[in-house]
Amino acid sequence: MKFGDTFMQYLQGDQTGNLVKCAHVEYKRLNEVLKNCRSQGSASASCKNEQQKDEGNNELSSGLSQFCHCESCPLCDQIFFSELMREASHIAGCFSSRVRHLLHLHVARGIQRYKLRLRQCFKNDQQTMAEEGRMLIEYVTMNTIAIRKILKKYDKVHCSVNGNNFKSKMQAEHIELLQSPWLIELGAFYLNFDGIDGGEFSEFCSQFSCDLNGTEPVMTLTLPNSTKLEYSLTCAICLETVFNPYALSCGHLFCKLCACSAAFVLMFEGLKTASSNAKCPICREAGVYTNAVHMLELDLLLKRRCNEYWKERMAAEHAEDEKQTREYWDSRTKYAIGY
Ligand SMILES: [Zn+2]
Ligand SMILES: [Zn+2]
Ligand SMILES: [Zn+2]
Repeated sequence: MKFGDTFMQYLQGDQTGNLVKCAHVEYKRLNEVLKNCRSQGSASASCKNEQQKDEGNNELSSGLSQFCHCESCPLCDQIFFSELMREASHIAGCFSSRVRHLLHLHVARGIQRYKLRLRQCFKNDQQTMAEEGRMLIEYVTMNTIAIRKILKKYDKVHCSVNGNNFKSKMQAEHIELLQSPWLIELGAFYLNFDGIDGGEFSEFCSQFSCDLNGTEPVMTLTLPNSTKLEYSLTCAICLETVFNPYALSCGHLFCKLCACSAAFVLMFEGLKTASSNAKCPICREAGVYTNAVHMLELDLLLKRRCNEYWKERMAAEHAEDEKQTREYWDSRTKYAIGY
C-alpha cells in the first residue's frame, strides 16, 4: 500500500478517537502541490531535454542547469514549506500538550488526583492512560513518516536537497517530533507502568527499554514502524546519570543542580529565573532555560530502578540547596548590617 493511503486510513480510523482536535500533516494537499508542479513541467526531466537541445549554446545551457537544480521552486515553495512548517509546529505543540496533560494525571497525587478523576468522569485511569499514550506514539510516528516522505518527494520532483535541508530547519525550531523530551517522558511513563499493569499493554510496553546500570545509561524506544531511538541519560555536566532531570528547550537533558549552575541561578530560585542570555553548555543556544521541562516520569523511573543512587543524589542535592540558601541569606544579612 502506498504511504498516502496508509496515512489516510490512519486518519479515518481516528474519526471516533480523540485525536480529532489534533493537527496532522496535510499529506494529500502537499502531495497535490507537488503533483501540480510536476504537471506544469518545471520538473527536472523537461529541463534536461532542453539542456540537450541547447548543448551548443554554453551560456544558455548553464543558465538552464542552474534552474534544474534550482535553489527554489517558484511554483510550490511559498505554499509547501510555510505550510509544512506551520503543520509541524502545530503537531509538536499538540503532542507536548497532550503528553503533559496525560502525565499530569499520572503523577498528580492525593486530592488533586481525585478531583482530576472526577472531571474525567471516573474513567478507569490506568487503562485509559496507557491507551492514550499508545495513541500518542502512533500520532508522532505517523506524522514523522508523513513529513519525511513528503520532503523526499519534494526533492525527487525538484532534483533538490531543499527538502532534506528543511529537516535541520525543523530541528533548529525544536519541532522535530522525535527529539521532543515529551517522547522520553512518555517512554519513562511506560517503563513505570511495566509490571503494574501487564495484560494487554505488556506487549506494547516491551517496545520501551532502558539500561540504567551500564556505563552509558540509555533509554531505547522502538516506534511502531521499527525506528529505533536511543536517548542518552548521562548529564553532560556531572557525567553521571541525570538526577531530578530537566530538558532545556534545545532538548538537552541535565540534572537540575547542574542546569542551575550552568545558568548561574541558585537552586531555590529555579531555572525560570535564568537570564535569557544563559546558554546551553552543549549546543550554546541561548534562552533555553525559561521553558525547561521538568522530567517527572524519568525521575520516577530512576527512583524506582536505581533507588540507592537516587537517594544518594537526593541527599547531595538537598545539602547543596541548603548550603546555597544559607550563603544567600548570610550575604544578605552582611549587606544589611553593612559589613
Ligand atoms: Zn515545484
Ligand atoms: Zn548533572
Ligand atoms: Zn542544548
